[in-house]
Amino acid sequence: MEWETVIGLEIHAQLATRSKIFSGASTAYGAEPNTQACLVDLGMPGVLPVLNEGAVRMAIKFGLAINAQIAPRSVFARKNYFYPDLPKGYQISQFELPVVGHGQVTIDLEDGQRKVIGVTRAHLEEDAGKSLHEDFHGMTGIDLNRAGTPLLEIVSEPDMRSAKEAVAYMKKIHALVRYLEICDGNMQEGSFRCDANVSVRPKGQHAFGTRAEIKNINSFRFVERAINYEVERQIDVLEGGGKVVQETRLYDPDKGETRSMRGKEDSHDYRYFPDPDLLPLEIAADTIEAVRATLPELPDAKRSRFVDHYGLPEYDATVLTASRELADYFEAVAKACGEAKLAANWVMGELSGALNKAGLEITESPVSSDALSGLLARIIDKTISGKIAKEVFEAMWNGEGDADRVIEQKGLRQITDSSAIEAAIDAVIAANPTQLEQYRGGKDKLFGFFVGQVMKATQGKANPAQLNELLKQKLDG
Ligand code: ADP
Ligand code: MG
Repeated sequence: MEWETVIGLEIHAQLATRSKIFSGASTAYGAEPNTQACLVDLGMPGVLPVLNEGAVRMAIKFGLAINAQIAPRSVFARKNYFYPDLPKGYQISQFELPVVGHGQVTIDLEDGQRKVIGVTRAHLEEDAGKSLHEDFHGMTGIDLNRAGTPLLEIVSEPDMRSAKEAVAYMKKIHALVRYLEICDGNMQEGSFRCDANVSVRPKGQHAFGTRAEIKNINSFRFVERAINYEVERQIDVLEGGGKVVQETRLYDPDKGETRSMRGKEDSHDYRYFPDPDLLPLEIAADTIEAVRATLPELPDAKRSRFVDHYGLPEYDATVLTASRELADYFEAVAKACGEAKLAANWVMGELSGALNKAGLEITESPVSSDALSGLLARIIDKTISGKIAKEVFEAMWNGEGDADRVIEQKGLRQITDSSAIEAAIDAVIAANPTQLEQYRGGKDKLFGFFVGQVMKATQGKANPAQLNELLKQKLDG
């Protein structure tokens, strides 16, 4: 039997406000436990939540970016459950009336195809605290610094059909919230995480299968692995004559498997009701327009512009617009050096390779966009060849100065004086009479050998085009 996978993601993006969603306590990461939890976050009696307007604006910004309806009136609700890191006994969330309604995003698949994924809704809510199981022997510590941190929960339609599509979707939302500057996207710190709902059904069947929900996955790699594992598990259960149970599962990255955590609660188990401490959230049309005016150029629009304006291939444009910082870096280089494709090749090749290897973000690059365009300018004006440029780049990366300085210091200036190149060719030909004879006897492949020898003799500095031309003349003559 052939099976089809169905996936829907619930993404939690921590909104980048300085204070919490219903209190003035700081949201800064990494403080001493319980130093950033005020009376409101602790759920003390007699205190009242006050909504953070910044969080609302960020939710609106997201809604506009995915072409969603912004609800003129939405309602905060209490989601009731008991857990030690939830002192109030309920989480303030939105249920029936979320602030952001139906929207969509386009994802890019590996084969170059695109697919539209529906976003069912996005709602504002507060985060819970953290239980620390490892730090105390036989006890659990509770850190409430995170309690009350604003989250935007982004719920997708069950539109994805493979783990790869789910990753592409998660990456797209990640890029969007970072472009919008509403979330720092830091997955290690938990600022961006997701629950993956996974089911399988026989190919051709219309009705969805029973799903399992895998909680709190905080890396793109883990999402892919967790889903693939879960799909295999469900198929095994069904093919063994069993039934998939609707439940919440945890992904264990060390073992590479998902395991059952608890039965899945239904929403009526949470006894949702409108929070009497908070007024309905009413958003005026002019507030929406004011937020719309702050929208930056979004990834899809930027990609189209890179193709139209710089003549880049779609692939390059997609890679370069993956993050706003990378796109800005590329654009600065392309503008300064005037050759967009050369700039794209260097940013995607040498620079990205070096950043990856060093585990650095583009914003931490030791070679600035100015410095890189300085290097490309020397390729364009033929001071150095593309190959030598890689050597110069490495020196720049290691802090040995800008391109001109490295070229001077290391004497890497390209040899364009044809008499100097000719002299080198003559010497090589004289030293290799056997190869010369073979070449002239029809062994064309030896041309490369001669190029190599001359390059070696000139420490790679002979201008490649001139060398080719002169060498051909000499060998054939
Ligand atoms: P809950 O809030 O209880 O988790 P929802 O109905 O809001 O449930 O769905 C949550 C997520 O599960 C959504 O992203 C939705 O697309 C996805 N989903 C719902 N049914 C299925 C299914 N059968 N298979 C895979 N994903 C599903
Ligand atoms: Mg859920």
